Amino acid sequence: MESMAWLRWMIGAFALAFGLALAVPAAAVTGTPISVCVRPAIAGQTPATLFRQPRGFDCTISQTQFGSGDFWVLSQPLPAINAADHTVRIGSTWVNRVTLFVLYADGSIRHAGFTSRTAGRLLGLGAVIVQPLPSHDAAPVRLLWHVEGAANLRGLILGPALADHDQRDTTEILLAALYGAFGGMAIALIVYNLALWGALRQAFQPAYCLLVLFLLAYAVTSSGALGQMFPTLDNNDRQRLNTLFLAGSAASALVFARTFFEQGVFGGWLRAASSWVIAALLTAGTLWAAFAPWQFRVLDTILASTYLLLLVLIPIILFRAWRMRSNFLWLFALAWSVPIVVASLRVANAFELLDWSLWLDNSTILSMALESMLSSLAIAYRIRLLSVERDTAREQEIAARLLADTEPLTGLLNRRAFLHRAIGRPGDQMLLIADVDHFKRVNETIGHDGGDEVLRVVARALRNAVPPEALVARIGGEEFAILVDAATPVMPDTILERLRSQRMPFDIAVTASIGSCTGPLLREADWKTLYRSADRALFAAKGAGRDRSRDASVLPIAA
Ligand code: GH3
Ligand code: MG
Ligand code: MG
Repeated sequence: MESMAWLRWMIGAFALAFGLALAVPAAAVTGTPISVCVRPAIAGQTPATLFRQPRGFDCTISQTQFGSGDFWVLSQPLPAINAADHTVRIGSTWVNRVTLFVLYADGSIRHAGFTSRTAGRLLGLGAVIVQPLPSHDAAPVRLLWHVEGAANLRGLILGPALADHDQRDTTEILLAALYGAFGGMAIALIVYNLALWGALRQAFQPAYCLLVLFLLAYAVTSSGALGQMFPTLDNNDRQRLNTLFLAGSAASALVFARTFFEQGVFGGWLRAASSWVIAALLTAGTLWAAFAPWQFRVLDTILASTYLLLLVLIPIILFRAWRMRSNFLWLFALAWSVPIVVASLRVANAFELLDWSLWLDNSTILSMALESMLSSLAIAYRIRLLSVERDTAREQEIAARLLADTEPLTGLLNRRAFLHRAIGRPGDQMLLIADVDHFKRVNETIGHDGGDEVLRVVARALRNAVPPEALVARIGGEEFAILVDAATPVMPDTILERLRSQRMPFDIAVTASIGSCTGPLLREADWKTLYRSADRALFAAKGAGRDRSRDASVLPIAA
């Protein structure tokens, strides 16, 4: 289909632009990563002694293996930097308190910390905690975090990195642009789809708006923007909302898919199964948000499992859509491929098959931004199909009406269509009735089929002898009616002259007689009067020797 071509180009262009938008900040955001080692905290330990015993830390096993609780996390020796113009960045996690101790070259130790309550003011975009290094004359040489009340679902100190102020500003600006663009796009998509819904009433439109709304809420909570707007909001509570909105997004994505595909793709058990998955996602998300950190690992595993169920459904949905030859399959697959890959990576991260990274943490919003754009194209494509459907229906209707209005042998209007259009015309109308002379003889001479051909030639001659706005109809066997506005009358003799000059089958000579009459034609009764008079004039023309015309106005008053 020709319409697919431009859509493919648009999608290609979108994907390219989006890839660039991703690659640029990805390259700029990375500060200098720091590797870290971990040891569980026990009473009586002090930063000063711990800095002196780096061997007591475990650098080999992954942080999540330690489980939840209190820990010390020690950095590698730092590269030569100036404390005044550097910040330490770590991914936000579920934790009660984090204290950062900094060892300086002169042996002094300073610290700065935050709790889940005060993390808000340190929260940068991308849900990254950005801590300035306490300023000191000597250079910082090593970092030590005291982490208390860590859930440690994804790690203790996530993706620690040193960033100077330029790097920090670049990151913030790029992320602000990215989230700002996503927010603006989400709002525009919601408004445009709700407005379109008013006109098109497609069930997938409100589902799509719900999806984008959840994503927008998710973006606000996961970007850290919420923490910046409400610095007093507990960072752990922010994560409750974040989890809830992500589960809501996943559930509404499934609702959207159900309404987006043709009926039948979600038929039978798949409909019930998808309802169960939607309910499971919402329930698990709500439980996590309401009860964490109680039974944290269990709740988190349940939630990750519901995402896994969703991922299992997707190939089934795609297979069904493929088997039912869905029009929307390729667009849907394209739009959702990136989010599906990202969701798979996140599930892998939740099951500890993959390490945390800032980009994994922020990838959902990026991939969903891509998805929203592509889905809006998918919706445009659907609307295009709808309008094609509507145009086809309209064309068929016009064709059907044309067929119902025309007389099959000659293609002229039939009697019913003629009367429908004639009666009610304002102002005086001129009616002409033309009847082929001795048509019975024509049939006898050249056969019935020849007679039919003569009728066709006569019809064409009549149609061409009068202006386009005149109504021309076959109202009887070899009887035709012509109606024109009396203000622009036609000359019956011109018509007869044209008929005489027509080349007829077997070169036989065919003539006709015409009776005409002028008068109002506002209602059915006018038609009867007009027709009777024209017929009388026709009769007079026949009586006077045929191949001529008569007008009712010059006839003697009928007896
Ligand atoms: P007049 O000059 O008095 O009008 O003579 P006429 O023979 O034309 O008049 P009449 O009304 O007696 O005969 C009309 C003939 O037209 C009779 C009928 O067989 C023929 N006819 C009607 N419809 C058709 C048609 O669709 N095809 C053909 N070939 N003949 C038709
Ligand atoms: Mg006749
Ligand atoms: Mg006749």
